[in-house]
Amino acid sequence: MNLSMDQNSPEVIAALLAIRMASRLCQKVRKELAEGGVIQKSDRSPVTIADYGSQAIICKAIKETFPQDTIVAEENSTELRKPEHSNILRQVTHYVRDFFPGVSSDEVCSWIDLGSHSIQNRFWTLDPIDGTKGFLRGDQYAIALALIEKGSVQLGLMACPNLYMDKDRPDGKRGCLFFALRGRGSYQMEIEGEGRQTLSVSRVDDPAKASFTESFEPDHADHFIHQKISKKLKMTRPPVKMDSQAKYGMVARGEVTFYLRVPSSSEPGYKEKVWDHASGVIIAEEAGGRVTDLYGRPLDFSCGIQLERNHGILASNGILHDTVLKALEM
Ligand code: AMP
Ligand code: MG
Repeated sequence: MNLSMDQNSPEVIAALLAIRMASRLCQKVRKELAEGGVIQKSDRSPVTIADYGSQAIICKAIKETFPQDTIVAEENSTELRKPEHSNILRQVTHYVRDFFPGVSSDEVCSWIDLGSHSIQNRFWTLDPIDGTKGFLRGDQYAIALALIEKGSVQLGLMACPNLYMDKDRPDGKRGCLFFALRGRGSYQMEIEGEGRQTLSVSRVDDPAKASFTESFEPDHADHFIHQKISKKLKMTRPPVKMDSQAKYGMVARGEVTFYLRVPSSSEPGYKEKVWDHASGVIIAEEAGGRVTDLYGRPLDFSCGIQLERNHGILASNGILHDTVLKALEM
């Protein structure tokens, strides 16, 4: 096991700083541009602005500390540089200047492009806003950053600005930062706070008492099959529908027993992207959980930007993992 990194490693310090800045930017954009019906439902500009801004800040901060590392991030600046999007670029630059005063639009674009799609032996992966539809709806979204070495996730951070901290008080304080280091456990802290709490998965061993989470969006997973599995296991609780990798956090803190993602029949050829899972996987595993695809294979992060060798996702408390896999054999 690789225990070369600890809480004081430069990787951890840089990643925490970066993800906290990006969370602040995203929340500010949401508050100023997407709240209170200011925008039309079809206008995705707030999420676009936050997405680019978040990527610019995180890529800049990581590359400053680790110039040799590559970052496999979701966005690039090609669209943003087009004259018809100058208004969006102006706004992205405005929000990034809260953290880097005086930065130019050209620099912001070049920071976004520090995220490439080239996989190396060691690389970071970033989803600047995971769950864009959740962001616009005012539901869950996550900023997800992970470090992968030799195909295995070593460090994962996930900021969920809209997720409640205390699972027993869903109406309570919001803004969770999940954090895991390989071999050193999984934690939750406030995005803006210091204290941290060790996470562990649920101990439920009776499938009838289990609960699960799935995508909010019906096109992202096959909810019909999920329902069949739930029935087969004699589960009684309805699924917790949630956007983004926050679902892995729900498994890690024992709020649900498992997270199921059977590929949607509307897009059967869809391949999962590394940035959509890397952080979540280590956060669930280090809390004592198990993550595989639907055939029980570990997720393989070494084949490029897509999880080419995997099919679907099951993240569980470990105890009920094989039971769910068996139920999936139809
Ligand atoms: P979730 O909120 O868990 O459904 O995940 C959001 C992510 O789903 C987005 O970041 C997309 O990359 C991804 N996504 C988009 N289309 C699909 C699809 N057809 N099947 C599975 N995932 C998808
Ligand atoms: Mg995503």
